[in-house]
Amino acid sequence: MSKGTVLLVEDEDAIADMLRGFFERDGFRFLHAVTGEEAIARLRTRPVNVVLLDLNLPGIDGIDVCRQIRGFSAVPVIMLTARDEEVDKIVGLEVGADDYVTKPFSPRELLARVRAVLRRIDEPREAPKVIEIDGVEIDGGRREVRTPDGEVIRPTAREFDLLWYLAENRGLALSRAQILSAVWGYDYFGETRTVDVHVRQLRKKIPALPLETVWGVGYRLDG
Ligand code: CA
Repeated sequence: MSKGTVLLVEDEDAIADMLRGFFERDGFRFLHAVTGEEAIARLRTRPVNVVLLDLNLPGIDGIDVCRQIRGFSAVPVIMLTARDEEVDKIVGLEVGADDYVTKPFSPRELLARVRAVLRRIDEPREAPKVIEIDGVEIDGGRREVRTPDGEVIRPTAREFDLLWYLAENRGLALSRAQILSAVWGYDYFGETRTVDVHVRQLRKKIPALPLETVWGVGYRLDG
């Protein structure tokens, strides 16, 4: 039985070939799109479990591809960035990527991240419940948020996990390191800045959320 379908969006065949072997051996179904346009067309008709998205693509670049995917899908997206440029990673997370790896990466590391993303989504939550904070309803079963005005917001997978963690621990100041290890859930090599970017996204999407910055520590959800 397939562990899930991975769609790689990458114009370098050598990388695609290497990853195909690796993921197929591990039991995944592996699809490869060379351009962002092709990937988007495919995703619209055939959903996948996770997208591995190269930043540097011919035609529309990875950032734009991610932005367009988020217009119609909450599929987990892991960005592959060739340049070790902070700005690209941050912009990638801001347009809705769940995670990124910097080239050159080991296929094993990438596989671990894919597994972690899928595990988090599949995890059966005990008695999915709704946590209500200042009129904002966070629905753990549907993984969506209803604002006091009745608007329904569907954060990305990672944003929701972060929100859920903060909500379950509301009233407590949580450090960035604590949040990283709880929400990202594996030996994360990224920086704590990743947390800041996701918090910023949550604040933008759900302004009614009493999400406070605790200086020198991290964040706290009041209520
Ligand atoms: Ca490329």
